[in-house]
Amino acid sequence: MKSAQQTALDVQGGTSSALEELERALSVVRERNDELNVFLHVDQDGARALASTIDERVARGEYVGPLAGVPIAIKDNLCQVGIPTTCSSRILEGWRPPYNATVIDRLITAGAVPIGKTNLDEFAMGSSTENSAFGPTRNPLDPTRVPGGSSGGSAAAVAADMTPISLGSDTGGSIRQPAALCGLIGMKPTYGLVSRYGLIAFASSLDQIGPFAKNAMDAALLLEVIAGHDPMDSTSLPEPSPSLATHVNSGVVGQRVGLVRELIEGADEDVESAVVRARSALEEAGAKVVELSIPEFRLGLSAYYLIAPAEASSNLARFDGVRYGNRVDAEDVTAMMEATRTAGFGAEVKRRIMLGTYALSAGYFDAYYGQALKVRTQMIAAFRRAYEQVDLLLGATTPSVAFEFGSKTSNPMSMYLSDVFTIPTNLAGEPAVSVPFGTGEAGLPIGVQLLGPARSEGRLFAAARVLEIADGRP
Ligand code: GLN
Repeated sequence: MKSAQQTALDVQGGTSSALEELERALSVVRERNDELNVFLHVDQDGARALASTIDERVARGEYVGPLAGVPIAIKDNLCQVGIPTTCSSRILEGWRPPYNATVIDRLITAGAVPIGKTNLDEFAMGSSTENSAFGPTRNPLDPTRVPGGSSGGSAAAVAADMTPISLGSDTGGSIRQPAALCGLIGMKPTYGLVSRYGLIAFASSLDQIGPFAKNAMDAALLLEVIAGHDPMDSTSLPEPSPSLATHVNSGVVGQRVGLVRELIEGADEDVESAVVRARSALEEAGAKVVELSIPEFRLGLSAYYLIAPAEASSNLARFDGVRYGNRVDAEDVTAMMEATRTAGFGAEVKRRIMLGTYALSAGYFDAYYGQALKVRTQMIAAFRRAYEQVDLLLGATTPSVAFEFGSKTSNPMSMYLSDVFTIPTNLAGEPAVSVPFGTGEAGLPIGVQLLGPARSEGRLFAAARVLEIADGRP
């Protein structure tokens, strides 16, 4: 499929048009969406209106933007004015946001054409997209398997060639994990790099929005467009968007890379051997790779599954049937709220609310939430020490290739374990990228993970590009 970069060049140069690119995308959606369940809502009319405006501007000789006429898929926890936004939850079914997320405004300013909202695990809680109230998304590379999650729909949109790029959110791995399982590049940026205004919050100290693409250049272009300070998000870094595309081809000569033992521990053999091959590829390109152990990484999962549910239990208190979303009427307000939340939330969301409420409750706060925060502080310190020795870290993104439907749904712990390699960076607020590198069981893609210190996105894209070339991708 044509890259986002090429699409924008063609549209701006007049050899293609935004409408043509859009119709092509919509026809693939028509062909495959029933089977794959990627989009929960397709905004044909809005997208056509945007595309024709772009074509008119090109005809007038105007510069439209770096994503001129590029169709893009949006995870359905991002608000787009007037477009149904559900978080894949019954509780928000039918709700239409009165405002745009900042990332949506920035995409439109850059000439991109959002075509619709993609499926996710309910409120982004999950690793397979099986927790959606609207049915699971299928992996386009093998429809008997999951696409990963929680941004499974956004990953599948790109993997199925519906759109060249898409947006997801990553709280504990929800961009990198589906990117790995669908053979895409996916990045979780530095905390604060991308505004979360209009992202429906899951765990506010961890959530970040980021790109999916088929190659490092497209991911870098997309991240450049959405990054940069936003006064509407108090956690937004007070800096303009960094230039990233210019770094993509800088290579890794002289870079010090740490291969982290804990980031391959317990991974399937095919995954581990892909990481070992990635190590050689980086060395051949001029990096110096050393082996490291960061034992704190083993504590990440337990800390995350206290901190994230604690924040979620507070964030999700707003869904009470009063101001928006669905309401189940009852005799008084308390009964109405209880009935609304009982009917509106799925099993995993309820489990998280209970876990979080318990971890925050008087008498347990210090033992659970307080302890998890201490672990988080140690994790941050461990990363800092590692980055005194090396510029980047290397490991696996997921323990296995895409798994089969139902194989982890009966045991929440086994599902939580799919995030074991992605969680540490979220706790530290640092960036990481998953890059497809080789294939494993059943010929399915494997994702290799590169991690870096805050604001090292340029360096990460350069290393990702080196792996792409070594993997034989254009
Ligand atoms: N799988 C993790 C969870 O369920 C991460 C989800 C995410 O990053 N949104 O919490």
